[in-house]
Amino acid sequence: MFFNAHVYYTTRVDRNPNELKVVGSILPDMAATGLVTWDNLHKKKDLLELFSYTHKTSLELTPLLDGLSYHNSLDYTSHTEYKNSKPGYSYASITPQLLELMKKTINVPDARVRTSCHNLIEAGVDYHLLNDNNDMATLIRTSIEQVDKHKLAGLLSGYYQKTEEKALWALNDFFTFATNYNLKDIDGWVKLLTDMNKYYLKIETNELYAKKTLETAFEITKDTWKEYLEFSISHPLKEITDCN
Ligand SMILES: [Zn+2]
Repeated sequence: MFFNAHVYYTTRVDRNPNELKVVGSILPDMAATGLVTWDNLHKKKDLLELFSYTHKTSLELTPLLDGLSYHNSLDYTSHTEYKNSKPGYSYASITPQLLELMKKTINVPDARVRTSCHNLIEAGVDYHLLNDNNDMATLIRTSIEQVDKHKLAGLLSGYYQKTEEKALWALNDFFTFATNYNLKDIDGWVKLLTDMNKYYLKIETNELYAKKTLETAFEITKDTWKEYLEFSISHPLKEITDCN
């Protein structure tokens, strides 16, 4: 899922969602910066090893691990399995029309088209959530402000064997993506996706088609997004599970 759904989920399942839990709940998607891979922070093995590394080296950061678990739990219903059926909600909601529009939006291989379509279904959930009076933007912004970025960069650089400078730089880029766009508005989404495609995939985006693709994704999700989130909130994973 996208930022707002992850943070909303965290505020619903956790009685005390402090800044580290909030940041932890979005952190796995910093894979978009290239500092870590999509398997890091998303797969069971890496997460469990990071958990024990954090307990050994940075006890004060352990609330972050709750956030990472919440991310894992929501991504599971989004990617892997939803209501006893596979794949998860975001992949199962992709339609032929959405695929065709995405092919006109970005010029990438078919597998990547499908991945990008699932991102737009997730964008749809975020968009409807935000416009349903659940604006998480302030909570995301203040949580990012409150977290000690140097400590967080220290943990990531120690565990993933990257320089602290690189880790800090990636964190700052990621936090910019999470805070700089008005995601209540479709044009904010067009901007975010165009910037992310350029940054991560190093490709251009046809913005006219991006808007049409987003409109279609918002339409697909408009009657199901709430049910999806409520189901996920009431069916949390009991333990960390591979989910992509
Ligand atoms: Zn994720």
